[in-house]
Amino acid sequence: MEAEHIHKLLMIREMNGHQYTGHETVYGDKKSEKAALFSRGSKVAHSCRPNLAYTSKTRHGGLEYRACRPIAPGEMITFSYDDELWTKNTLERRAHLLETKNFICNCPRCQGLDDTSAVRCPRDACVGFARPDISPGNLESTSGRWVCGACGPLDAEAVAVLCKHERSMLMRLLPLKAAAYESTGNDVASPSAVRAVAEGASKLLSPVHWIVSISYELLSTFCVHHATAAKRAKARGVPVPAPHGSEAELHSDAAEAAARHVRICECIAAQCCGGGECEREHTTVHECAKAVFVLAHELRQLKPRQRSAPVVALVERYLPHIEILYGKGDMADVLKMLEETSGKPKPDARSEAEMAADWLGGMNLVGGPARAAPQAVVTPRSNSSEDRGSGAKKKGKNGKR
Ligand SMILES: [Zn+2]
Ligand SMILES: [Zn+2]
Ligand SMILES: [Zn+2]
Repeated sequence: MEAEHIHKLLMIREMNGHQYTGHETVYGDKKSEKAALFSRGSKVAHSCRPNLAYTSKTRHGGLEYRACRPIAPGEMITFSYDDELWTKNTLERRAHLLETKNFICNCPRCQGLDDTSAVRCPRDACVGFARPDISPGNLESTSGRWVCGACGPLDAEAVAVLCKHERSMLMRLLPLKAAAYESTGNDVASPSAVRAVAEGASKLLSPVHWIVSISYELLSTFCVHHATAAKRAKARGVPVPAPHGSEAELHSDAAEAAARHVRICECIAAQCCGGGECEREHTTVHECAKAVFVLAHELRQLKPRQRSAPVVALVERYLPHIEILYGKGDMADVLKMLEETSGKPKPDARSEAEMAADWLGGMNLVGGPARAAPQAVVTPRSNSSEDRGSGAKKKGKNGKR
C-alpha cells in the first residue's frame, strides 16, 4: 500500500471517525477504544453552539441523533467535535479545532461576541460586560478592541485595566491547575485556595468568564480528591485530620462546585452573564452530561437528607443527556440515588413516547413529540438588556464522540 493511501486512510479515521461504544460501559476502567465511520453521520457539521447530540447506544448499531435545542426550519444541523465547548474562549476553540480537525471554526458563535471572555466593564458606573472583538478567521490574537454591551467600544486605557485583571486571575489559577495534575493524596492544594480564585474572578472579571468556570470545575476535583484521601485513611484506621472539612462536607462541596460549573456553562450557552447566580432556568447543555453524571456519584456518597435539593434537581434535568452518553445500564446508580432522595421509585420501563416527553422536558423545549420539529425559540443576541440582568446580584474531545 502506498504511503499516500495510508495517510489518506489515517486522516479519514482522524477527521470523520465517531467514537463507537454500542452497549459497552463507558465509565470507570472500561473505556471504549472503538471507532466507526458513518456515511451520513460524518457529514454533520460542527458548531460551537450545536443543536444535536448523538448516541451509538442503539439497538440497530447505527447512530441516533437527538435535538438538544429547538431547531428552526432550514437551520443546519450540527453537533460538537469538541467536549470543552463552554470553558474555552473563541480563540482556544479555533486553535483546538484547527489542530484536531484541520479547520478554522467560523460558526455563528465564533463569529459573535465571545461570552466566555466577558469581563465587567471597567468604566465607572457602567454595569455592562465587555468582550473582545474577534474577527472571523482570527487565530492568534484579538484586534485589541473590546466592546462593552452597554456603553460601546472601550478605549485603550480601559482595555489595559481589564487585561491586567484577567492576567492577575490567570496567574493565581495556573499553579493550582498544575497542582491538580502533579500532586497526589494530601499534597493536593486546599479547596479554599481554588474557591478564592473562583469567587475573586467572578467579581473582578465576570461570573461567566472561563477562569471562573474552570476554577469551579477544579474546586470540585480537589474536593473529590480530599474526600477520597479521607475515606482511605479511615479505612486504614488512621486518625483523619480534616483541615478541609469532613468527608461528607467534601463530597457535598464537590457536588455544589460541579453544579455551579454546569450552571455557568448553561448561562454561556444562553448568552447570559449571570454565571449561575442568575435566577433564570436555562436550557440544559449536552456537553455537561459527564460533569452531572460525576456529581451524581458525589451525591451518592451522602445520606439522602444531606443532598442539596437544587443539585438533585439539576441531576434530574440532565437525565436525558446522561442516558444518551452512558445508556440505561450505566444510569442505574444515578436513578437509585434519585429514588433514595425523593423516596419515590423512578420508572425503569418507559415507553418511547414517555422517553421523548422526558427528553423534551429536559431540554426545556416547547411541546410536541421528539420527532416533530420543535418550534424555534428565538433568543435575540442581546447586549445591554442581558448584561444588566434582573437584579442587584447582576451588577456586577474527543473530536467526534
Ligand atoms: Zn465555532
Ligand atoms: Zn460599559
Ligand atoms: Zn444565566
